[in-house]
Amino acid sequence: MFLKDLLRFVYPAECLHCEEEVDASHQVLCRACLAQIEWVNTSCMCCKAPIEEGKQCQRCQKRPIYLRGHASFFTPQGPILALQNAFYRSGRAETLAALLVVGFSPLTFPIPDLVTPYLRPRSEGFFLKKQPGVLLARGLAKALNCAFAMPSPRLEGKSVLLVCDWLTNTESIYESKQHLKQYFPKALYSLALIDAR
Ligand SMILES: [Zn+2]
Ligand SMILES: [Zn+2]
Repeated sequence: MFLKDLLRFVYPAECLHCEEEVDASHQVLCRACLAQIEWVNTSCMCCKAPIEEGKQCQRCQKRPIYLRGHASFFTPQGPILALQNAFYRSGRAETLAALLVVGFSPLTFPIPDLVTPYLRPRSEGFFLKKQPGVLLARGLAKALNCAFAMPSPRLEGKSVLLVCDWLTNTESIYESKQHLKQYFPKALYSLALIDAR
């Protein structure tokens, strides 16, 4: 399936990023902006943060944090931010969940039994159930046809995928994964849609 087919969403016929007219009535980005979405292709061998070049990010060169079983898909720039903002406004995660499925497919991670959200340390004004991470994790679970659960004893014995909509620092996701291990998942992987580290 092509990316443009996955990006269908009910929106006015203007590109969310540049406001150019788009050719199909429910395309969210124009072709030029779609083509500009860049996936992370180089990441730190320790913490998996996006890097321009080399093997390790600057902080891991000094004191590495090993974040195993993690992948980040985008850096916070360009048209992906328009999609993210539309998601924050509408609460509709279908488009971004579709992008997560596209990014997930080539990874060696197993299809999870269950998707769980990365919960922001402070609620940042969102009700828990409306937190973007919660909505995105629900959307991804639906797209992958697997279960969704909040961090809870339901994770026990399951292959769990932790989903973060906006990752700001290595410690927070590292600690979040450590915290989830208290529920004894069979396996634990994590994804970040946008990695702002
Ligand atoms: Zn555009
Ligand atoms: Zn690093």
